[in-house]
Amino acid sequence: ARRKTFTVHHLKELFENEFGARLVDYGKTTASIVRQFCNEIPMTDDTPFYIVNLSHYARQYLQWLHFLGRIHPFYAVKCNPNGFIVRIIAEMGGGFDCASAEELDLVRATCGVDFDYATRIIFAHPCKSVSHIKRFREAGVQMTVVDNEDELKKLKEHWPEAKVLLRLKPDDKGSLSPFSTKFGANELECITLLRMARVLGVQLVGCSFHVGSRCLDAQIYMQSLRLARRLFDIAGRDEFGFDFKVLDIGGGFSGHNWDKPSFPEVAKLINKTLDKLFPESEGITLMSEPGRYFASGGMTLVVRIIARRIHNQDYKSQEEVIKLERSYSLPTNSLVQAANTDESTVSEQVLIECAENIYYINDGIYGTFNAIIFDHKVFTVHYLKIGEQEKNPKQYKSVIFGPTCDSVDCIAHSIDLPLLEIGDVLWFPDVGAYTSACASNFNGFKTKKYMFIWKG
Ligand code: PLP
Repeated sequence: ARRKTFTVHHLKELFENEFGARLVDYGKTTASIVRQFCNEIPMTDDTPFYIVNLSHYARQYLQWLHFLGRIHPFYAVKCNPNGFIVRIIAEMGGGFDCASAEELDLVRATCGVDFDYATRIIFAHPCKSVSHIKRFREAGVQMTVVDNEDELKKLKEHWPEAKVLLRLKPDDKGSLSPFSTKFGANELECITLLRMARVLGVQLVGCSFHVGSRCLDAQIYMQSLRLARRLFDIAGRDEFGFDFKVLDIGGGFSGHNWDKPSFPEVAKLINKTLDKLFPESEGITLMSEPGRYFASGGMTLVVRIIARRIHNQDYKSQEEVIKLERSYSLPTNSLVQAANTDESTVSEQVLIECAENIYYINDGIYGTFNAIIFDHKVFTVHYLKIGEQEKNPKQYKSVIFGPTCDSVDCIAHSIDLPLLEIGDVLWFPDVGAYTSACASNFNGFKTKKYMFIWKG
């Protein structure tokens, strides 16, 4: 992997100067950092904001070098397309997986003209529009991926000198977001592509795969590496005559070491398999496209309660819940489930009606919390009362709505919270991956304010 000479001190200074990052002692809790920011911001300013810990990205990079030192990371920009992450990863020597011309533009705007676009960017989208191909080519990017015959013809016509990786199709059912229904070629399809590339004269130089996002089954990496090895061998046969020299193992790594298996555990297995199937002596260039590995833990969302409806009604008995459930035209089995007192199967509408307190905050499903829908994310809520904080306050079944005029914009249907006031703060850690990246500006609400810290 690429190693550039840098010191953490140098990075700290850089980000202090460029982003006005505030230096925070490493031992300080997120709760106290949130409190400090909120105390400084006047009560009249209820704008939601992210606290970005820039040292998180540097730490993740160093951890990567420690555990997967043979593999050069190309940060998947889509996961959180913000200049500050691009800046720090570029500074540490990383490359970028860009899937569109706009992502490429972000890297260009952040890294400037002297950046080595030939070796530090991969256009990692298997199904590309011609206008985007043109932009990558003009920027000097050299590498891309392919998984179907039409794409090979497209490259022959619009990017004949490209260095191309065959994107394989792993069995990624065990991942949080599998991709194999959309992308990737199986072994037989790859053989057809090898034959066609040979005829067309397209330069195939290796393989890539993606095991699906947040892959918690390390076996998928192992199986994919074995598939890649077979393809390397097949490609080298006389009938095809390719000398594969690049292997890109994609993304899918968790951003949290408390996930099981943890990143170090997955890395250990990958290294073992790589050493067996792709030993260093073969001189294969190894790369990867981690997104959430870098981005997840770097951001905390801080929002205010902007409105509320308290003492909605008394919490309902089970019979009342069933009666209420019947009044909605819902699938009949939800009644049975409600009768079994399994609250999680009671419809969302009923849970909302049964709640005692309803809060409205200034970010929602159309914003950061889109990840509940698109990324199956479970958010953790913390609260911070601006006034006096009771020790063990009474908890109420509460609903949290986002700020838009849509009732779908509901973040929590039945959550235990104390009685909160307008102006009190809710904060949500680990909101860096596939959150702001996919947020819309619907109804004019989007969290755009970033406060930078360097914790360490
Ligand atoms: N590479 C490709 C081609 C992807 O499609 C994605 C995610 O969609 C990534 C890398 C990043 O994946 P992850 O965030 O799971 O590491």
